[in-house]
Amino acid sequence: MRYSGLRVIKEALTGHRGWKPAWRNPEPQKDYDFVIIGAGGHGLATAYYLARHYGKKRIAVLEKGWIGGGNVGRNTTIVRSNYLLDGNEPFYEYSLKLWEGLEQELNYNAMVSQRGILNLIHNDAQRDAFIRRGNAMILNGADAEMLSVDQIRREYPFLNFDNARFPITGGLAQRRGGTVRHDAVAWGYARAADSLGVDIIQNCEVTGFRIENGTCKGVETARGFIGAGKVASCVAGSSSHLMAKANMRLPIESTVLQAFVSEGLKPVMPGVLTFGAGHFYCSQSDKGGLVFGGDPDRYNTYAQRGNLPAIEDVCESGMALVPAIGRARLLRIWGGNVDMSMDGSPIIDRTDIGGLYFNGGWCYGGFKATPASGMCYAHLLATDTPHEVAQAYRFDRFRRGNMIDEKGMGPQPNAH
Ligand SMILES: Cc1cc2nc3c(=O)[nH]c(=O)nc-3n(C[C@H](O)[C@H](O)[C@H](O)COP(=O)(O)OP(=O)(O)OC[C@H]3O[C@@H](n4cnc5c(N)ncnc54)[C@H](O)[C@@H]3O)c2cc1C
Repeated sequence: MRYSGLRVIKEALTGHRGWKPAWRNPEPQKDYDFVIIGAGGHGLATAYYLARHYGKKRIAVLEKGWIGGGNVGRNTTIVRSNYLLDGNEPFYEYSLKLWEGLEQELNYNAMVSQRGILNLIHNDAQRDAFIRRGNAMILNGADAEMLSVDQIRREYPFLNFDNARFPITGGLAQRRGGTVRHDAVAWGYARAADSLGVDIIQNCEVTGFRIENGTCKGVETARGFIGAGKVASCVAGSSSHLMAKANMRLPIESTVLQAFVSEGLKPVMPGVLTFGAGHFYCSQSDKGGLVFGGDPDRYNTYAQRGNLPAIEDVCESGMALVPAIGRARLLRIWGGNVDMSMDGSPIIDRTDIGGLYFNGGWCYGGFKATPASGMCYAHLLATDTPHEVAQAYRFDRFRRGNMIDEKGMGPQPNAH
């Protein structure tokens, strides 16, 4: 069923009796050509592109919970491509371009809103770094713009510009960055993949791998064994836990990241804003709530619930930048389990086990990567070669010491 304005009018006039479920609820078959583990944004996008762009069939996505219950429905919805390093910037710019056409491609309103992102600058060294970053972005076909304090004052008059400790001295803007309604992305990909015959099987946890003579033959699940030609792990924060069942130890640690939403306010925040002197970022949802976040809780865990010290830390940073935020009441907070790689960059690669593939290490920035990650993982699964924009996302970079150290923090995930 195609969604359109005409369809909405027709259904309104006929008592809304014509709407169909957005996806089926199939029973698992005994085997598939491709089994993707995890129905988050990346798993669903992979299944969709595998079917739609690579013409593959007999695809299943196995999900231990429900569609959108993981980080794809827990993030703060920011999309952007303001990266510096060669391994990253082409990939994230490719992703942003895919976001720009996504709603038409999926025939689904994902509320893609290119309201712009602004990274604030507070000292000279930061200005130099952001000029360099902006130039790298432009060289890779992205957009970037340095803003003066006066320009920022016009767009964000309520910031604490003259804070003695963190004065604002400029900013790097990417006007094509913005937000996308996170769970609509999961629903849009699920609906589109389902319509191409992909079986999305919820409440079907993968509990182990059947590996014979170095080749993965399928997965053990809560609903029995399911055979597979190729098995693709795509479970974000559960990556190290799941791959341990195949005796793999990953360069990934999991931690919890919290998100915050204030009560609804009149429009005040025109775009996405990031503080350059603390970890705090903020945008405003279409319902009016300020959506913000900051540092992860700094300990390893698979829990999806964080603690008070991180909440205090994020709120303090918010108050330093936007003092008025202290007048808004917090409505909701939640946590998501994020897969922190050792250099802060992701992995999309084959493993040493035949037929077993891996996608993960997205840290707290993988939502913006969803379309490109799905496309690149589908390319790898279909062709056994890396997609041209994901060439750097291989396991062997950790063995070779050839890190993609975007944050310049070295191998310390809790410092990224
Ligand atoms: C609070 C927060 C804010 C964030 N903000 C942003 C942001 O603004 N911008 C941005 O780009 N990124 C952001 N991120 C990061 C982003 O959400 C993640 O990197 C991305 O969503 C991970 O990919 P995914 O959508 O596939 O993960 P998920 O949605 O977590 O999908 C993984 C799925 O695997 C399933 N699974 C796990 N184990 C198994 C198993 N054994 N068997 C079957 N299924 C299994 C899980 O149930 C889950 O549904 C944020 C994350 C958090 C937590």
